[in-house]
Amino acid sequence: NYIHNHLPTDKLQALDAAHHIHPFSDMGDLNARGTRVITRADGAYIWDSDGNKLLDGMAGLWCVNVGYGRKELVDVATNQMMQLPYYNSFFQSTNVPAIELSAKLAELAPGDLNHVFYAGSGSEANDTNIRMARHYWASLGKPSKKVIISRHNAYHGSTVAAASLGGMAFMHAQGGLPIPDISHIAQPYWYAEGGDLSPEEFGLKCAQELEAEIERLGEDKVAAFIGEPIQGAGGVIIPPETYWPEIQRICDKYEILLIADEVICGFGRTGNWFGSQTFNIRPDIMTIAKGLSSGYLPIGGSMVSDHVAEVLAQKGGEFAHGYTYSGHPVAAAVALENLRILDEEKIVERASNEIAPYLKDKWLDLANHPLVGEARICGMVAGLELTPDKTARAPFKTPLGTAGNICRDFAIENGLVMRAVRDGLIISPPLVLTKPQVDELAEKVGRVLDQAH
Ligand code: PLP
Repeated sequence: NYIHNHLPTDKLQALDAAHHIHPFSDMGDLNARGTRVITRADGAYIWDSDGNKLLDGMAGLWCVNVGYGRKELVDVATNQMMQLPYYNSFFQSTNVPAIELSAKLAELAPGDLNHVFYAGSGSEANDTNIRMARHYWASLGKPSKKVIISRHNAYHGSTVAAASLGGMAFMHAQGGLPIPDISHIAQPYWYAEGGDLSPEEFGLKCAQELEAEIERLGEDKVAAFIGEPIQGAGGVIIPPETYWPEIQRICDKYEILLIADEVICGFGRTGNWFGSQTFNIRPDIMTIAKGLSSGYLPIGGSMVSDHVAEVLAQKGGEFAHGYTYSGHPVAAAVALENLRILDEEKIVERASNEIAPYLKDKWLDLANHPLVGEARICGMVAGLELTPDKTARAPFKTPLGTAGNICRDFAIENGLVMRAVRDGLIISPPLVLTKPQVDELAEKVGRVLDQAH
């Protein structure tokens, strides 16, 4: 066993600094501060190498929906590794877990999303979506329909294509992004950009930018629109209720494919199995990852509706695209077992009917704190906007950095993991949170805000 769990924290940190490049990190800064080494987890808690216990308000990276320490997932992985750890005969074979997972996903997914193309992650699945949407139109004799319309500040992943699809300016500033034929319209971020409009007016206005963009580009150039039902990494941006119906109307009117990126919203996060159900969206393609396996193993996929799958099967010929780990038997087996746990233990229903309303009361109470400009929540995902001036929704800058970053550090001191996005704080806890753990979370957030005030 080569794993140095027994080394003291400073030695582990030194090895990490010497050899491990972290994603989305300023390595000079991180190495100077010393990376936190997480050594174990159980339920909704994680522990670091110094023995500190933290309530994981982010479920890892929005993914550990069933919580940590589920032995069933470990057993399924072990058995599958013994039986068939991997096999793929240049994509012309299949395996039992991949077959069964596909059938279960078809049963759970909304509408006629009855087909799955597997990937190893959400980013890869969105790469698949770009190619699949374009290939779909080419197969129908319309190869000029290539442009995918997305939103500013959207997050769709980190590969070159998925990051191009995303609308994160700081990502586009590096590495030669974006790729051609991607276009971005406004995000429905009322708090920051709504000005004097009501949320409903602003939601409509943002959605109508899609129609204007289709008209500007020409209907014959547009393949698809992609959006997260709730923008997660952008800051838990819950759209006004006018937004998605108008987007759906426009996609229907111009017959462009609607891609719902459910990498965060899927598998119970927003109060239903899928965010598309919460917001009444009828996607043609749906991106899944994260909560699909509760993060226990990497797996993602594109769920595809009957009419798209039929065109691809009947007219598309070979779709020249795939990953070594598409339909990986161990990841598929773990995902299937994770779905069984979510389903049989009624975790989605319980989170949505009991825990989310309880959390909502406490979360909305935080809006009374002098530093909070807005508290928003949908199911088990929530955000706070911090401001020194509630009426002006003013940004909160201090010499030490953004309010969000300062509060994130206070949170760690108080035994809580939250994420900071600009001046916001966000949470996306495991769906298995108990009411006492909700109390703990809300009490800790309140304490953090008091410390920052
Ligand atoms: N899409 C959304 C909405 C996401 O939030 C993420 C990751 O946070 C991705 C795609 C990318 O997924 P992955 O990190 O598994 O590649």
